[in-house]
Amino acid sequence: MLADTSSRPLSDAAFEKAQKVIPGGVNSPARAFGAVGGTPVHMASGEGPWLTDVDGNRYVDFVGSWGPHILGHRHPAVMEAIADALTRSTSFGAPTPAETDLAELVVEAVPSVEQVRMTNSGTEAGMSAVRLARGATGRDKVVKFAGNYHGHVDSLLVSAGSGALTLGHPSSPGVPAGCTQDTVVLDYNNPQQLEAAFKKYPDQIAGVFLEPVCGNMGVVTPTEEFLNALRDLCTRHGALLAFDEVMCGFRVAYGGAQARFGVTPDLTMLGKVIGGGMPVGAYGGPAEVMKHVSPVGSVYQAGTLSGNPVAMACGVATLKALRDGDVYERLEALAARLEAGLTDAIEAAGVEACVQRVGSMLTLFFTAGPVENLMDAQKSDVERFAKYFHGMLDRGVYLPCSQYEAMFVSAAHTEELIDATVAAAKEVLGTLA
Ligand SMILES: *Cc1c(COP(=O)(O)O)cnc(C)c1O
Repeated sequence: MLADTSSRPLSDAAFEKAQKVIPGGVNSPARAFGAVGGTPVHMASGEGPWLTDVDGNRYVDFVGSWGPHILGHRHPAVMEAIADALTRSTSFGAPTPAETDLAELVVEAVPSVEQVRMTNSGTEAGMSAVRLARGATGRDKVVKFAGNYHGHVDSLLVSAGSGALTLGHPSSPGVPAGCTQDTVVLDYNNPQQLEAAFKKYPDQIAGVFLEPVCGNMGVVTPTEEFLNALRDLCTRHGALLAFDEVMCGFRVAYGGAQARFGVTPDLTMLGKVIGGGMPVGAYGGPAEVMKHVSPVGSVYQAGTLSGNPVAMACGVATLKALRDGDVYERLEALAARLEAGLTDAIEAAGVEACVQRVGSMLTLFFTAGPVENLMDAQKSDVERFAKYFHGMLDRGVYLPCSQYEAMFVSAAHTEELIDATVAAAKEVLGTLA
């Protein structure tokens, strides 16, 4: 089922060429293989759970474009909706019914969302949500958690892993200290630190931003105590609780993490799955919060291509397929099978590692675990991860190229493919002990 995919001369040549005209040869650093070494694979096509590279090698895909392809590549209903939209135009710069269709699907699905504004990326959704939280509360400070990623938003691009209650230092040149001086970085799964922050900055915190299932330091699950304490503290101190569901929205449940855990935020950011592979982000919440957004309110936010009709058609078809199918049971069963198989493989190989999973998101950490925050995640043996990654890549399994990422199962995967992946992992882990 899986073949030797280790020969990739055309991919190597394509990367050489790309590096001359694109910084690092990539349009997003996460694709660059920086953490694992080697040359990024240039892809030619995808079909269901499969990717084919420019050399004609075929891989089973556990990246899914970093989350959007929950239905696999080229789902027939999605392809049909895109083709139909293309018969009208690629963009109007005026309202179209498809925007309301996608907004209605989001509002019906996501418990806390009554109104939603479309953007072109998760980053834009995050940036706009920060502005809205500040505009709606008249406060400046925002809280984020170490190891959580909210896009490359200046004010949230803060050195992860900073000690509790230290104000943020920018983690990229080009972000002035002024942009992050109002950002407070705390440890995930530690509600006592948030309580202390509200004491230290009374009536100053506009919003508390988090990934309610964390995927961007590898998969880390929030404790029930943590989520409940966050909700309670935000309510008591008049701050907005903002769930960044760009990755986990429509992924860990149709209504996202908030539906799965029964905790209701004041603001929600979406992306990835809602675009079905097209550039779409969104932020939403109760009408009482969203009324502050321009043109109704005075918090300005805009986009020439926001709500693009082709992207909306793709998103609408994706969400309808998720709503009307038995997709989430299938994802749960397949991902549980993968988790069990990988856990067995780890044990058989005698390697120090653990698997953490929520729904169809999972990470194999090369540390004993459990991983509850960034400090735990950073105990991972990333050199071992790099060897594991390349071993799997050469055996036809395409994984995220960093220890600190989630792998995704799609509804197009099959039990046979999961078992073949586990067999490959057994082989590779056996060489790492
Ligand atoms: C991917 C991601 C983002 C950023 O989305 P982009 O579309 O890449 O800008 C923000 N937050 C989370 C949780 C993400 O996983």
